[in-house]
This record gives sequence, C-alpha cells and structure tokens, in this order.
Amino acid sequence: MDFKIIAIDGPTGVGKSTIARKLAEKLGCLYVDTGAMFRCLALCWGKYGCPESDDSLQELGDQTRIVFKHNNVICNGKDVTDEIRTELISSLASKISSFSSIREVMKKQQRTLVEEVRKSESCLGAVLEGRDIGTVVFPDAKFKFYFDASPEKRAKRRMLQLQERGENANFEKILTALRKRDFQDQNRKVAPLKPAEDALIVDTGNMSADQVLEHLAACIGGEKNVS
Ligand code: C5P
Repeated sequence: MDFKIIAIDGPTGVGKSTIARKLAEKLGCLYVDTGAMFRCLALCWGKYGCPESDDSLQELGDQTRIVFKHNNVICNGKDVTDEIRTELISSLASKISSFSSIREVMKKQQRTLVEEVRKSESCLGAVLEGRDIGTVVFPDAKFKFYFDASPEKRAKRRMLQLQERGENANFEKILTALRKRDFQDQNRKVAPLKPAEDALIVDTGNMSADQVLEHLAACIGGEKNVS
C-alpha cells in the first residue's frame, strides 16, 4: 500500500489539531503538529533573549530536538506540552516563524520525521497540520486540505476551549489576538499562510468535528479530488 501524506493547513482556531489527530489515529498514520514545533522554538528563543540574526536562529533551530511521544511534546528532553500553549508563546511562534532560516530548519525536521516512519514501515502514512504543509513542506502530498472559518467562529471556539480548562477567556481579546496572528501568518514573505492551489477547502465553521472527520475520511477513502 502507498505511504499516504495528508496535509491539513489553515489559520488558528479552525479545528486542525483535533481533526488531524483523530484522522491519523483512524488511518494508522503518524500525526505531526508542526505548530507545536514552532512553539518549541519560540520557547527556547524567548529563554535566550530573542536573538534575531539568521545565523543565530539557524543555530537555535539546529540545536532544538523536538519529539512527539503519544500526545506529548518533548523539546530537548523536557516535556513542554502545556508550557507551549500560552498566548505569549502563540505570539512569539508567529513572530519567529517569519524567519527564513527557522522555516528551513523546520521543513527539514518535518520531512525527516516523516521519512523515518516511512522507512521503518511503522505507520501507513503521515498527517501533518500547519500553515505551509501543502504549499512548501510536502507540495506533492496526495491529499491536501485547507480548513477555514470566520474569525468570530474561531474565536468563539477558542474561548470555549479556555473556559473548559477553567481559564479566563475574553472574547474580544481572543478575537484581536487571532486577527493579529492571521495577519502575520498571511503576510510574511516566506511561506505565507494560503491554500495550495490543489487543496480542498473545508469550511469547518458550521460542521461538527465528527462531520469534518467523516468528510475527510470519505475524500481519502474514495480518493476524491484532493490534488
Ligand atoms: O498551529 P499553531 O497555532 O500551534 O502554530 C503557532 C504558530 O506557528 C502559527 O501562528 C504560525 O505562525 C506558526 N506556524 C507556521 N507554520 C506551520 C505551523 C505553525 O508558520 N507549519
């Protein structure tokens, strides 16, 4: 059977992580949360006083080892699963992701993760979610999806997630931060967030997670559209 690469791109709060994780589980694929990888770099970057030269960033990227263990993110041997989920890290990750040296290092690491499982035959494929998977990291991926929904719907979803975790959540603040991140991600010079020309656009705003999952599984199973 062919090793499948499934790319899921889209802006923040659109439901990529939930769906990508469930889809990977359903299809026996590796799940790669590339946003978590940028978040790890942002965490390390912040600790070293935010160096901004391309050389020092390349060094930081090369020295940062990111591993996914079950649902946890391990950065340089430390479990950072919760630490990388703060608003500060979200905004630093968006900032650091505009540097070309960082994007090159991430692209290489993401391709290596996939190549390792492909060679070991431990999974039937890989589901990667991020901003540039279908456009830059795996432009030849057989299945490409681009999730979208209005900023208001995404902010509301994010607010409910925070409330469920017992955290303070202000809709207007969340919406402002989300719009700022969208703007940064869509307007950076290198690998800006945009749908690949051959991606299937999925409007997740009016669909439940189960409906989105079923839709993707049907497209993949029937090899409908998607690239
Ligand atoms: O997806 P998540 O919100 O965790 O991503 C955090 C930030 O990392 C994004 O706002 C984006 O700037 C950056 N990112 C990226 N390319 C990816 C994944 C994430 O630029 N493939």
